Parts: sequence; structure tokens; C-alpha cells
Amino acid sequence: MAEERRRKMIGLQPEGEIDWSEYRGIMVVVEQRAGHAKPVSWQLLGEARRLADKLEAPLMALVMGDNVGHIADEAIGYGADIVYLSDAPELKDYRTRPYSRVCLKVIRTYKPEIVLMGATYTGRDLAGAIATHLPTGLTADSTQLDVDDERLLLASRPAFSEKMLATILCKQFKPQMATVRAGVFQALPFDTGRSGEVIEVSEDMREEDIVTKVLEFIQDAKQVNLEDAQVIVAGGRGVGGPDGFKVLEELARTLGGTIAASRAATDLGWIDHAYQVGQTGTTVRPKLYFAIGISGAVQHVVGMQNSDYIVAVNKDPNAPIFQIANYGIVGDLFEVVPLLTRAFQERLTPVVTR
Ligand SMILES: Cc1cc2nc3c(=O)[nH]c(=O)nc-3n(C[C@H](O)[C@H](O)[C@H](O)COP(=O)(O)OP(=O)(O)OC[C@H]3O[C@@H](n4cnc5c(N)ncnc54)[C@H](O)[C@@H]3O)c2cc1C
Repeated sequence: MAEERRRKMIGLQPEGEIDWSEYRGIMVVVEQRAGHAKPVSWQLLGEARRLADKLEAPLMALVMGDNVGHIADEAIGYGADIVYLSDAPELKDYRTRPYSRVCLKVIRTYKPEIVLMGATYTGRDLAGAIATHLPTGLTADSTQLDVDDERLLLASRPAFSEKMLATILCKQFKPQMATVRAGVFQALPFDTGRSGEVIEVSEDMREEDIVTKVLEFIQDAKQVNLEDAQVIVAGGRGVGGPDGFKVLEELARTLGGTIAASRAATDLGWIDHAYQVGQTGTTVRPKLYFAIGISGAVQHVVGMQNSDYIVAVNKDPNAPIFQIANYGIVGDLFEVVPLLTRAFQERLTPVVTR
């Protein structure tokens, strides 16, 4: 009896078998900023589509914001069957309380068996807030997802300082929740021919009841956004020092891309840790990735192997990076990179047509 009371006090379900059979389908919480969805949301829908088909269950998306109806339509084009849309001025900027209230209402009403969101700053905050309220299990920062014959979500993530991959299950509670690293999954091609249903959800909220206020967004001048970059020019120990990155910056600027680095370069203090790609850095999926003076250690490769095209520049013809590169140039980067930059500059000069 005491145990039962304790469970009740901390909000846990009573002991014994609970019938979760009403919970069906996968829900992806779509993250948007200023009316633009984050790429990780579409990547997640792509993977969740596969899982939903395996479970023979619907794929749902939850879109929250102010004037974000267009994102609900986009979610259908990227694979969702049903989109729950909560559109209200109070949801303009991300704030834990109003966002988690909408999420909790949608989860409790529509009962998805799995809830996924991006492991971004806001995704991690929101997922934690919801999981503790439901309460249910949450696997953070997953890099692999699957479902088994018993409809259990198998969420895998690196653990113990990234030395092993742990597969975590949530057997007794629903929904099973996971946040998922950006860049590891691929979005489906956007299909304007897909159809789906948009269901509007409203939650009674008044601005005066929300304690958090967003006064201003200050854009960090040095903000690094590797996850969204289409072109990445990454340097490693081979660049020889902080000045070596200037050569890479020139190439990145020419191609409208951003620079990045291996852990060897960030550990040596040549460039900030925010630029690190790999297992303990950011996982990226650009259209074009230059690995320059990077040997291709497995911990680096896991963070960039899903790039559409990989170009490696290295003076060692036996460097492992050449095994995964689509194009490889054996040579000294201080010779090769300026030549590449010049060649791109010549070809990318805008042609003026009259
Ligand atoms: C738990 C753990 C987590 C880790 N996480 C990460 C991670 O997230 N990201 C990561 O990158 N690493 C990570 N590492 C480290 C990783 O194992 C490698 O040590 C690291 O990636 C090596 O970086 P690098 O390729 O720049 O350096 P090196 O392996 O030293 O390679 C330098 C390369 O530059 C070439 N070179 C040298 N001079 C020139 C030149 N002038 N022109 C052209 N080529 C040149 C060399 O031939 C060589 O191939 C992790 C390691 C551990 C144990």
C-alpha cells in the first residue's frame, strides 16, 4: 500500500500490467525557428517513415509556432500522414512551458507509441520536460533507431565516453521517447504529390501565465552551424597550425561553405571545439565535404561519412580517408588548396547575361 502511495505521489503509474494498446504510431516533433523547419526534423521523418511502415502504423508530425501552417504542409511532403498543428502567438519563440504543454496534450490525446525529436538544444530541453511529466523513458542523442517484433523502439547511442554503443529500450511505459542526433538520417525527397491530414490543436494559454519572456535574440557572430551547411571544408593536424585554416577559409568562402576540423586540430587549440566533426563533435551531412590534412580515423569518419561527396587532400597516399573519398588528391595541401580555390573562383564568377 505504501508503495502504491509513493508511486501515486511521484506521479508514476500504478504497478502491474498497463494496457498500452491504444498507443499507436510514431510522432516526430518538428522544430522550427522563425518559420523555417530545422533539417533534422525532415531527416527524422525520413527514418520514422521506415519505422512506421515496419510497424504498419501512422506517421504523425507535431508542428508548433506562430504562422507555421506552411510547415505542416511541408511535413506531409516529407512523409507524415497526419500533422497536428498548434498555431498561436504564444508559440512564436521556443519556451519550455508552452511548448511542453502542447506536446503533452497532443501525446495524451492522440497516443503515439513512439515520440522522436532532434537532439538540438531545444529538442533536448523539450524532450526532458515532457518525459518527466508523462512519465516515460527517454534516450538522448540517439544515432540509430529500429523497432522489434514487440513494437519496442531500439534507440542506440554512444556511451561510456563514446567507447561503446548502447541500445536502450523502454519496455513498460509509453510513448517510447528518443532525441536523435542531426545529420545521421536522410530526409525523403520532398514529394508534392503526397497527401495527409492536418489537425489543428489548441491549448488554452495566456501570455500573462507564461513566466518566461523572450526579450531579444542575439545572433552570435561566431556561431557555428555545421549541421545546416551544404559545403564543409574541414582541416586536420595536416594544416600545421591556426594559420593553416586561413587557406581553408578562402576555399570555404569561395564555395559559400563553412570550415570545420578534426579533433586533433581542436585539441591543439588551432580552432574552437565548436568546429569539430566526428563522434564527439558534430555529425554532418553536407552536399560536399573536403577532408584536408585529415587521416580519416574512424572517430572522424563516423561524423561525415554520410556527406553526398567527399573530397580528400592528403600527402599520404595510404591515408584511410581515401577509402571513403569520392575524389582524392595526393599532395601538399598548401599547394593543392589554393589551386582548387582559384579554379573554383574562375568557374564560379557570375556570368552577366544581357
Ligand atoms: C573516444 C574518442 C573520440 C574521438 N572523437 C573524435 C572526433 O569527434 N573527431 C575527430 O576528428 N577525432 C576524434 N577522435 C580522434 C581520432 O581518433 C583521431 O586522432 C583524429 O581524428 C586525427 O585527426 P587528424 O586526421 O587531423 O590527424 P592525423 O591522424 O594526425 O592526420 C593528419 C593527416 O594530415 C596529413 N598531412 C600532414 N601534412 C600535410 C600536408 N602538408 N598536406 C596534406 N596532408 C598533410 C597526414 O598525411 C595525415 O594523414 C576521437 C578519439 C577517441 C579515442
